[in-house]
Amino acid sequence: MYPVPFEYHRAGSVQEAVELLARYGDEARLLAGGHSLLPLMKLRLAEPKHLVDIRRTPGLSGVREEGGALIIGAATPHQILEHSPVVTRRLPMLSEAAAQIGDPQVRNMGTIGGSLAHADPAADLPAVMLAAGAELRVIGPKGQRSIPVDGFFLKLFTTALGPGEMLTEVRIPLPEAGTGGAYAKFPHPASRYAIVGVAALVTVASRKITAARVAITGVGAKAVRASATETALTGQAADAGAVAAAAEKATEGLTLRSDARMDPDYWRALTVTFTRRAVATALERAG
Ligand SMILES: Cc1cc2nc3c(=O)[nH]c(=O)nc-3n(C[C@H](O)[C@H](O)[C@H](O)COP(=O)(O)OP(=O)(O)OC[C@H]3O[C@@H](n4cnc5c(N)ncnc54)[C@H](O)[C@@H]3O)c2cc1C
Repeated sequence: MYPVPFEYHRAGSVQEAVELLARYGDEARLLAGGHSLLPLMKLRLAEPKHLVDIRRTPGLSGVREEGGALIIGAATPHQILEHSPVVTRRLPMLSEAAAQIGDPQVRNMGTIGGSLAHADPAADLPAVMLAAGAELRVIGPKGQRSIPVDGFFLKLFTTALGPGEMLTEVRIPLPEAGTGGAYAKFPHPASRYAIVGVAALVTVASRKITAARVAITGVGAKAVRASATETALTGQAADAGAVAAAAEKATEGLTLRSDARMDPDYWRALTVTFTRRAVATALERAG
């Protein structure tokens, strides 16, 4: 299938992208890596009349460390997150997750902003952002604002982005000393999307877990924090028994997506197993 005809605009600046979105309203869509939007257009599930390409827009791509945070441009491709020395060193959970997205072509084209804005329930980066406590910088017709990631993913393929708004930057606070993170994933064998993906960030002091953020993707309508697991971990001794007990709670309060091909009990068991693996690895890395 071919998409319906559309007009292509390459935004030379963030301001121009915002103006084009405002000018064309509902008829416009941003184009980043195109690896989610173009398949939808070819299936005629999306029929934008104007595409605003931000992939090469100056200032939207790249990673840097600044003021105790990692700052990631919205149009940064996954492969940069996979290989960037600052990400690998300062937030290995993110490079570990990026390395498991699709295949090299997908990682070369797909971007962090596209992935977060698209909010696919089986995408990897939403879980990592929830575990990392990211803040999402947005610009739109009313100016700039920040959205804490805990309020960003609303429901299936739906985020807190308003009409005409675009993501410009992701800010991730750098973890304090004694913190380790990990991403563990059971990929779909055909698409590589997560059947279950778990991101965990835990802080240890005097052999006790003092803080834990754990997030799960693939299982429900959107990526979510595993609150019962986080509560069960916090204050416990940093050992395998505590991890196993907390992982058993991973699906508490979680509504599984309906999928005729997946036995719900198997899906729950996978979620517990991958939660245990992610948290155990994060603890090892916490030192
Ligand atoms: C074969 C295949 C396998 C894949 N496997 C995986 C996988 O294993 N794990 C995974 O997580 N993903 C996977 N993906 C998805 C991939 O990560 C996509 O790159 C990602 O979902 C969308 O990013 P994009 O830059 O391509 O966005 P696009 O397709 O360009 O855009 C997606 C949506 O986001 C909007 N958008 C883009 N940028 C912004 C912005 N800055 N602000 C606001 N809105 C914006 C667009 O308007 C559009 O609605 C796969 C894709 C393919 C084709």
